[in-house]
Amino acid sequence: DVIDIANPIRTQAILNEYGLHAKKKLGQNFLTDLNILHGIVDTAEITNDDFVLEIGPGIGSLTEQLARAAKKVVALEIDSQMVAVLSDTLQPYDNVKVIENDVLKVDLNELIAAEFGQNATVKVVANLPYYITTPILMQLLRANISWDNIVVMMQREVADRLNAMPGTKEYGVLTLTLQYFAQAQLAMKVAAASFNPAPNVDSAVVKLTPLTPEIVVDQPERLFGVIKGSFSHRRKSLWNNMLQTYGKDAATKEKITTALESAGISPAIRAERLELAEFTTLYLALRAQGL
Ligand code: SAM
Repeated sequence: DVIDIANPIRTQAILNEYGLHAKKKLGQNFLTDLNILHGIVDTAEITNDDFVLEIGPGIGSLTEQLARAAKKVVALEIDSQMVAVLSDTLQPYDNVKVIENDVLKVDLNELIAAEFGQNATVKVVANLPYYITTPILMQLLRANISWDNIVVMMQREVADRLNAMPGTKEYGVLTLTLQYFAQAQLAMKVAAASFNPAPNVDSAVVKLTPLTPEIVVDQPERLFGVIKGSFSHRRKSLWNNMLQTYGKDAATKEKITTALESAGISPAIRAERLELAEFTTLYLALRAQGL
């Protein structure tokens, strides 16, 4: 009988066999709880038609479950020692390809086209390395890839930011970027005991579903630039942040004032009070002023 990679005893045996210890600086916390793994696969609704992109396969615990359910899995792993382990642990599965690379450095569109076909639609599934959760989410959302859903394990503190309400300290650039592209849903809370080693933060599995924003813009990157600039000093007014971004000369002040007026937004407000639609309106008004 085959014992799952995720089995706690087998996980420890694999690490021992290769003389490996989980690397903290790479966010290595291996899942050893089959119920959670099955929950992740179910949440992503993986079928044998699906192309799956996995980030950070580690020793292959999640990859194995994905391989059994999906058509093809491509997994990106930065740690060459893990890649060596995977060529052994995933050897029974012929629909898995492991690529040694940094997820933040790959061109996801190119990768998907090369591995799954031009314009292929993927599901993204991962137990994320927590030290780069936010940059990975930002990259996935902004890369303009075609995806059915994104199901990822992350620290609870970041999960809380995804659906944060305006005016709260969790509300910010991540919340607004997410809202432009997707709807987020907390699928599972996960105890630290489900990992080896146990992370020292709480975890959660989040499911993202694609969403068309209320107001679609032709260059979303520029909208995110406005949002980022507005939050650069969180405690300062929108007005102060905008002067910082665009300049303090009289002509610029005039343009900013006109844009704020036409968007119906008070210069004294803080960015954390503004909803996505208000940022979009402001961005369009700024553009109309040539800013
Ligand atoms: N999927 C495995 C599991 O669930 O047991 C391991 C998850 S572990 C939380 C995160 C994995 O991401 C580790 O294997 C780590 O080496 C890998 N990783 C860290 N930084 C990465 C990066 N920039 N690009 C790709 N993989 C990365």
